[in-house]
Amino acid sequence: MSETAETTAAPEVNPLLAAWQTPHQTPPFAEITPEHFMPAFERAFADHAAEVAAITHDPSTPDFDNTVTALERSGKLLTKVSAVFYDLVSAHSNPAILAIDKEVSLRMARHWSPIMMNAVLFGRIALLHENRASLGLTGEQMRLLERTYTRFHRAGAGLTEEAKKRMAEINEQLAQLGTSFSHHLLGDEQDWFLELGEDDRAGLSDSFVATAKAAAEERGMAGKAIVTLSRSFAETFLKSSARRDLREKVYKAFTARGDNGNANDNNEVVVEILALREESAKLLGFPTFAAYRLEDSMAKTPEAVRDLLERVWTPARARALADRDELQQLIAEEGGNFQLAPWDWRYYAEKLRQAKANFDDGAIKPYLALDHMIEAAFDCATRLFGITFAERKDVPIWHPDVRVWEVTGPDGRHKALFYGDYFARPSKRSGAWMTSLRDQQKLDGGTAPLIINVCNFAKGADGEPALLSPDDARTLFHEFGHGLHGMLSNVVYPSLSGTSVFTDFVELPSQLYEHWQERPEVLQKFARHYQTGEPLPEDLLRRFLAARKFNQGFATVEFVASALLDLEFHTQPASASRNVRAFEQAELKKIGMPEEIAMRHRPTQFGHIFSGDHYASGYYSYMWSEVMDADAFGAFEEAGDIFDPATAKRLHDDIYSSGGSVDPEAAYVAFRGREPEADALLRRRGLLEEPAAA
Ligand SMILES: [Zn+2]
Repeated sequence: MSETAETTAAPEVNPLLAAWQTPHQTPPFAEITPEHFMPAFERAFADHAAEVAAITHDPSTPDFDNTVTALERSGKLLTKVSAVFYDLVSAHSNPAILAIDKEVSLRMARHWSPIMMNAVLFGRIALLHENRASLGLTGEQMRLLERTYTRFHRAGAGLTEEAKKRMAEINEQLAQLGTSFSHHLLGDEQDWFLELGEDDRAGLSDSFVATAKAAAEERGMAGKAIVTLSRSFAETFLKSSARRDLREKVYKAFTARGDNGNANDNNEVVVEILALREESAKLLGFPTFAAYRLEDSMAKTPEAVRDLLERVWTPARARALADRDELQQLIAEEGGNFQLAPWDWRYYAEKLRQAKANFDDGAIKPYLALDHMIEAAFDCATRLFGITFAERKDVPIWHPDVRVWEVTGPDGRHKALFYGDYFARPSKRSGAWMTSLRDQQKLDGGTAPLIINVCNFAKGADGEPALLSPDDARTLFHEFGHGLHGMLSNVVYPSLSGTSVFTDFVELPSQLYEHWQERPEVLQKFARHYQTGEPLPEDLLRRFLAARKFNQGFATVEFVASALLDLEFHTQPASASRNVRAFEQAELKKIGMPEEIAMRHRPTQFGHIFSGDHYASGYYSYMWSEVMDADAFGAFEEAGDIFDPATAKRLHDDIYSSGGSVDPEAAYVAFRGREPEADALLRRRGLLEEPAAA
């Protein structure tokens, strides 16, 4: 054949819409570019809308399968495209992705409102819900029906047409405002840095300076050294820099994020969000957004949340005030003639800790190499749950720093893929989180999950391994605990999978896992010196563990103040907080906030509660979960073995694998045999007087 070969342009294939020919059908990140997203979302919205329409107008009598299960099956493409997109938005964005994010958040609200407020569809669900006792459902199906009914009901499916119309507008505006809030925050964090000249490094460790150099290089300033506003970076600087003037600069920049009166200012965004949330709660028949939000939680009411927070606040504040006096005395002893300021607290607390516990973070860091701590987190999971990890190099990733492990179950079968994205970079938002590219479920043959942990650890410079601070190591275990919640999930229905639980329950698997990280059995085995391989010396280990309870007044105060402010924002009329800064000041005064301590998150940087609804009036959740995790670990201590097989099996069955398939309170009681004891939290934080030895 001698035909002229004609080059025909291959039809443009959108990798987001094609079947993925990758290991375990993982997203082919290298092939995906920003322009693929909008067309893929369009298709996904259209597919999902058609699927939901078919369910809504199904002529057959509503039953569990043709309504509830059918809804579970719908929207696969939307779930798939969203997972990839939001992973990039958070962990590796660029201006093109952020521009699409703005459009997608609006489109997402426009897509979901008519579904969640569809009266005919809700009629089918409500009918099933009414007759639920006679449907012959399994426990998980019953839970799914209840959750589905509750979700639609709480979204406004039962409202009048007029109220629904307004609700849809509110949802759109809130979606856009939440996106603006997080973009502003990212913008303020990306814009700022402090250059450290040779004379500006007093008190800083070599490893910190190396990190500061790596950060400069990351921003195209090779050869220089900079401090950025990444939390662990800024906090380490505040802890160690002997330069009071520079500490003040970093502290002020860190606490001013989103509050700089520039294009990234979040004050007005907060005001608008709070007004819209209040309006939506009222449309739904609740006096406040907090009352609305908390109805669907373990805590149930704002009063229950306030009770817990105040019970912790009082002893924590007392401890912080006593600590403050001690820090002031230390300043005086050193000949300092100034009053302790917020940018001094971490620095002098660290000095005091070194003096009292003879311990500083710098001494232990060489024993906390990232790789060793990953190994430790994996090993604990192996010992508790029988799962094993093997690194894979053939799975596509979104950034060269990302690592992937295959997780194998105790039965030798593939269980999950685990992605670890550990290092800070400008394209990543601050904080640490777990998310997924695909959730576990057992419908239609089932799927194994693709679970992600993202952190913002500082990279080691010049080929040195990354060394973690004790807080970083704890964060690693925390996020890995969330990761296990996703990886061990063993439910039938996708919407009940893994971390799809109440917000005040979701921190239990993560915070509980932190307990293993600080156990001598674990540290002795995995905390080895990164150069010599020698294990953590006994004496240093002892001092490290003793130092853990140090400065807990401060840590508790900075957290609880943020949680209380979150509650006030959402229980008081929105009109009360039109001047966000004045509201913040007045509330802090009311609770007697020590002036030398800043909230962990000031309003304009409080992404938990303003980037989206998820933790809105829900920041207390960490503490609610902590009541349980402090109490839950006691089960292992009582068994006399932190890997006790029988306790671990209950933990697996009742907590880590059950996702949202059971009521969380029932799940906890099944595991522990009783309700949690509230004082375990105060004891763990060292805020209870230890009873005198008998
Ligand atoms: Zn968490």
